[in-house]
Amino acid sequence: MKYCSILFILLLHLPNLHAQFPQAMSIHLEMGIPLDDNASNDYLIIRPQYALSYNQQLNVANWISWNLHRGWYGSVPRYSGNFIADTSLPAEFYRVKHSDYTNSGYDRGHMVRSEERTATDEDNRSTFLLTNIMPQTPTLNQQTWLSLELECERMCKNDNKELFVIAGGVFGPNPKRLNTVVSVPDSCWKIIVILDSGQRVKDITSQTRVIAVMMKNGTYTSGTTDWKLYATTVDAIEQSTGYDFLSDVPKPIQAIIESKNYVSVREYEHKRGLEIYPNPSQDHVTIIFEGMPYQTYSIDIHDLLGHSVKSFQSQSTLNAEGSSTFDIDIEDIPIGAYSIVIRSQHELFATQFMKH
Ligand code: MN
Ligand code: MN
Repeated sequence: MKYCSILFILLLHLPNLHAQFPQAMSIHLEMGIPLDDNASNDYLIIRPQYALSYNQQLNVANWISWNLHRGWYGSVPRYSGNFIADTSLPAEFYRVKHSDYTNSGYDRGHMVRSEERTATDEDNRSTFLLTNIMPQTPTLNQQTWLSLELECERMCKNDNKELFVIAGGVFGPNPKRLNTVVSVPDSCWKIIVILDSGQRVKDITSQTRVIAVMMKNGTYTSGTTDWKLYATTVDAIEQSTGYDFLSDVPKPIQAIIESKNYVSVREYEHKRGLEIYPNPSQDHVTIIFEGMPYQTYSIDIHDLLGHSVKSFQSQSTLNAEGSSTFDIDIEDIPIGAYSIVIRSQHELFATQFMKH
């Protein structure tokens, strides 16, 4: 009897065992358990399909973390019932229900995508628990967020990659609430560590590629739905959320991979010679890149939360070295860190700069 009650207490508290050997409990926490400086609203839930930290004040997850490779994709049909209230939450927590979202104008946005758990019916059903769901605008959920989910599927199925994914939202001090309970994020973010099949945290090096995106929970129109436009750094997401991600990666490697914008790095390596100077700057930057001179490009400058601060079209000019250039006036934008994306129909260049 005594052992029974000890076991019962252990089971009850299993989700809150932060400290000891948690990674051994779950492949989904292979990169570490993201923590911020206030543990009181971080309720850890570990399932066979994913792990998450739940916020009982916001009534959504702080973050959801999951392993992804081609073995998770299968052929079971999509779960067809209503979204499911999560009865594994403590009794004193509010349990979000399907109807809290009804007629709100927001989609029930999966963090772990339904298609990413289609090996068994039970796996797929688990993605419909409302602790895995975040209010997303229809165009974010169905277009921009989806574009990166499709890239994950492609990397797993075509390139045999093994991904470690973490996703969540950024919330203002007084977020909008659906049915007075479910907090609506200002932006949604995702971090994807890209490894080869079978690799684990010990295999991460300073060369490991990491995709990080921050997407505003707003309206997207054609031409603005490509996930690459919202690429940022893990550092920027850590700053916006207060969480330390990839905490089980050795500190020196963590510092390197968290400060790289994979998209701009890749485009830089691909195109050779995307430069921006002076950086930091006060009023004016020049961009030199190996795109086509005298061609019209659209130029988008957005802050690290994904808010657009400047957007225009311009024709590149040819400089003395034979590269294309743009001169951009940044006098009218606030001090801060920015991403700049330059695109034509077939080319995309991205980099970051500081205004001070
Ligand atoms: Mn979705
Ligand atoms: Mn970190």
